[in-house]
Amino acid sequence: MKKILITGGAGFIGSHLARRMLNLGHEVTVMDNLFTGNKSNIYDLEVNPRFTFLLQDVTQPFWGQFDDIYNLACPASPIHYQRNPVETIKTSLLGMMNVLELALKTKARVLHTSTSEIYGDPLEHPQTETYWGNVNTIGPRSCYDEGKRAAETLCVDYAREYDVDVRMVRIFNTYGPNMHPRDGRVISNFIMQALRAEDITIYGTGDQTRSFQYVDDLLDGVLRLMDLNRSDLIDACRKHGFDIPVMNIGNPAEFTIRELAEKILELIPGSAGKLVFKELPMDDPQRRRPDISLARELLDWQPHVPLKDGLTKTIDYFRTKS
Ligand code: NAD
Ligand code: UDP
Repeated sequence: MKKILITGGAGFIGSHLARRMLNLGHEVTVMDNLFTGNKSNIYDLEVNPRFTFLLQDVTQPFWGQFDDIYNLACPASPIHYQRNPVETIKTSLLGMMNVLELALKTKARVLHTSTSEIYGDPLEHPQTETYWGNVNTIGPRSCYDEGKRAAETLCVDYAREYDVDVRMVRIFNTYGPNMHPRDGRVISNFIMQALRAEDITIYGTGDQTRSFQYVDDLLDGVLRLMDLNRSDLIDACRKHGFDIPVMNIGNPAEFTIRELAEKILELIPGSAGKLVFKELPMDDPQRRRPDISLARELLDWQPHVPLKDGLTKTIDYFRTKS
């Protein structure tokens, strides 16, 4: 049994991770300030004697002895991370620093959830881990993108200078049950709009693309990465030109946003909603698709859940919320 800390564990991905870790027999502490997370995501876990919830802001120092720390604390939806941009960048940076300081003092292993946003509006397609990205430092998305980029830098510097065992995943658009219905992300928006027979709001022309990953696939990849022996992992990474593990975890199946809307309408027959076109937000990336060769080779991992199956499960969840 391991002692596990999950920062941001009351959010969408964190609540799935907490559940999975408890099912594996581990002791789980969730730390969250409930900025975008919700206790309802973890109510059923609270009866488990191996589960603890800490209402705590990750930007404030904290203490505890854990084997593994999963750093997820950070709002992930553009409308939420732009609502309070200073808090967003502080959460990425100070939160990361507090996690790494704790790991340094207690010899914990760290998994940091980075993002495909570090590639910005990418000029290379698909995106490999060696691509440095195309990111605006002063735009509305910068608080998130640059916060996450700086958090990666902190991770590699703590690993190189202080030998902290850090692993990073760059997560591509992930969806599933426990997303907040008013989260503002495209899948939750489109499903809720279709269920309520409202118009489907496409930003821009809808020709921009994303690659959508079901949450179970993401967790399979993350757990495989955390389970690897450190020296074997570093040796394998060195062969690919990295001294610190950093890996794309996403589903390479790429769809335009218009295709996504049409798929969701097919799965919710009878919805009276029609497609309406709204202004494209500033700096909205045009294309995004992960190259997952590294994860395939090092983790023997690839996603298994097709978009239609994942959407069906997510729609079932949102039906209980509409
Ligand atoms: P989410 O918003 O549902 O979860 C984030 C959690 O962090 C919430 O519970 C929130 O309350 C908590 N949090 C925010 N600021 C905090 C703070 N200062 N102190 C403590 N807790 C704080 O988002 P998610 O989709 O579950 O994302 C989880 C992580 O994965 C995030 O770090 C995000 O950047 C990363 N990620 C997610 C996606 C995706 O598509 N879902 C893609 C790339 C990266
Ligand atoms: N989007 C949209 N309608 C919505 C919400 C989002 O067309 O109601 C678009 C958004 O402009 C972007 C894509 O869908 O091009 C994915 O948006 P999301 O916020 O889910 O993720 P991100 O932009 O961070 O990848």
